[in-house]
Amino acid sequence: MIIIIGAGSHGLSLAYHLIKKGYTKNDIALVEWKRIGYGSSSRNASRYRYHFNSKENVEYALEAIKYLKKQAKELEYNTMLMRTGYLWLIDGEQEYKLFRKLDSFWRSYNIGGKFIDCEKYSYLKFDGNCYLAPQDGAFHHDYILYSYYYSIKDKVSIIYDKAVSLISSRNRVEGVKLSSGKELQGDKIVITAGAWSNEIMSSIGLNVPIFPEKKEIYITEPLRYFIEPLIINSKLQIYFSQTLKGEIIGGIEDKREYKFEEFTISINTIIKFLKTIKNLVKGIDGIGILRGWSGYYEMTPDSSHVMGYSDDWPEGLFIDAGYSGHGMMFAPYSGKIMADLIADSYKSKFIDIFSPSRFNMNRLINETLVI
Ligand SMILES: Cc1cc2nc3c(=O)[nH]c(=O)nc-3n(C[C@H](O)[C@H](O)[C@H](O)COP(=O)(O)OP(=O)(O)OC[C@H]3O[C@@H](n4cnc5c(N)ncnc54)[C@H](O)[C@@H]3O)c2cc1C
Repeated sequence: MIIIIGAGSHGLSLAYHLIKKGYTKNDIALVEWKRIGYGSSSRNASRYRYHFNSKENVEYALEAIKYLKKQAKELEYNTMLMRTGYLWLIDGEQEYKLFRKLDSFWRSYNIGGKFIDCEKYSYLKFDGNCYLAPQDGAFHHDYILYSYYYSIKDKVSIIYDKAVSLISSRNRVEGVKLSSGKELQGDKIVITAGAWSNEIMSSIGLNVPIFPEKKEIYITEPLRYFIEPLIINSKLQIYFSQTLKGEIIGGIEDKREYKFEEFTISINTIIKFLKTIKNLVKGIDGIGILRGWSGYYEMTPDSSHVMGYSDDWPEGLFIDAGYSGHGMMFAPYSGKIMADLIADSYKSKFIDIFSPSRFNMNRLINETLVI
């Protein structure tokens, strides 16, 4: 029996890929303590990008986005995948130099962008240079999530309960204890519990450094559609874009401690976001926020994800978590390569690169382009 803990996009994608390999309801138990997509998978900004600063993440994104586009054609619901670009509003000479360097790095992967005078974007109030990464884009997370759920709901055993601790003996996993007091027996356990993953690992004294960082995100009332790319400004620590319905959606950095907090939003941060977008975009002075919500970035020390297993863990224990704010776009591909590993013992090169052992082996990836 394979036990998957957490029904976010990664747990569901893994279940979907295992079912495709012929596994059945008797072979897979999916444990979720709240609801399908309770975590970050239903709380994100639904954007995809190739443009990271580490080669490991660029190489992962190249494969993962190719696979995301393929899945978009196969999944039950229309994922609304579209290429919109990411537009960085560059602040000052130092950031310009950094983007020159990044651009030549990205060119080596055929994903170079364009430096454009920001005046060319007539709706922007920003003097200076813009950098457009035209290859990046958007999708709708709910349609990916619920396509997976729709495909697997009658084919795996879904258990609504909290996994409180792992059971292991003689260096093998044996099952999971649930908060209801029940025990599930399993010889393979996969932790896909997002920001909560380390709570489960620590139940048997293991530590995977994944920390919750609360993020707020807002959506305005709809306007005509005029902002195509996702716009980012690192000095103001803001990102925003427009949905096809015309709402402006985005967030503003509000650096917080890594800790579990209530899923609330704060009026001060809403006002800061609203003022900042009004200072950057023409003609939106009267606009208001319609709603907002919060979720966790599942942060690791190098802002890169953790997948696979560690040789010093009990046999049969796997993880796929810690996506540090960019895990929705990677869920289809990660689910596939985790299923290849678990079902066929086929080890993609990425399993070693993003291994949890890297934190003890000084092989950090150091991603700094976290948006
Ligand atoms: C504001 C915001 C914006 C973002 N924008 C983007 C973006 O534009 N593009 C992008 O690619 N990514 C984005 N992300 C990141 C992305 O949403 C996450 O990386 C991704 O959804 C993680 O998926 P997951 O399946 O690993 O975790 P989650 O979706 O968090 O799923 C974990 C699941 O495990 C369950 N669980 C936890 N503990 C237990 C337990 N003990 N027992 C049983 N179940 C348990 C939870 O209830 C949850 O359903 C954003 C995130 C946020 C918060």
